[in-house]
Amino acid sequence: MELACLDLEGVLVPEIWIGFAEKTGIAELRATTRDIPDYDVLMKQRLSILDQHGLGLPDIQQVIASMEPLPGAKEFTVWLKERFQLIILSDTFYEFSKPLMRQLDYPTLFCHRLIADEAGRIVDYKLRQKDPKRQSVKALHTLNLRVIASGDSYNDTSMLEEADAGILFRAPEKVVAEFPQYPAVETYEQLKQAFCIASERDLSV
Ligand SMILES: [Mg+2]
Repeated sequence: MELACLDLEGVLVPEIWIGFAEKTGIAELRATTRDIPDYDVLMKQRLSILDQHGLGLPDIQQVIASMEPLPGAKEFTVWLKERFQLIILSDTFYEFSKPLMRQLDYPTLFCHRLIADEAGRIVDYKLRQKDPKRQSVKALHTLNLRVIASGDSYNDTSMLEEADAGILFRAPEKVVAEFPQYPAVETYEQLKQAFCIASERDLSV
């Protein structure tokens, strides 16, 4: 039995925080872990910026609802789900990703949670566990599932390492150079082919 584990942002949907920053014009929200490596510091800063702008969860979800999956992403997941059980392993938050997941027909998603008060103000966030992508693949292995994983960035490399086969999708050159053991592809057609190669079954039928 084979399972496909996909990263979300950069693979099926745009970077949500960057898209949100663009839609709202709040430039400070473009900061990522590349600017502020400590994720906790980064998240606290993001939540405080949202607060300063009086943006609660319903406002945020409304903005995100105007974003769309990457062109071809939906069709790719349809192809993938005909051949694999699909699980999305993401470092996003359920409350953020919901409007985009709706457009992808709600595939199974393991990610983190935001905590909002009754007025919709986001007061905190809860990470599901440490190194969640690796731990998820490890747990799936205990169920005797073979895992083929694909992601686009550093936060995916532990998932790719733990998986039986890993594929980089639209990864920055730096990541491709640092992890030459993984095939690196740019289009969904190439990603389908890479899944076919990595699979132990004939997927052409
Ligand atoms: Mg990503």
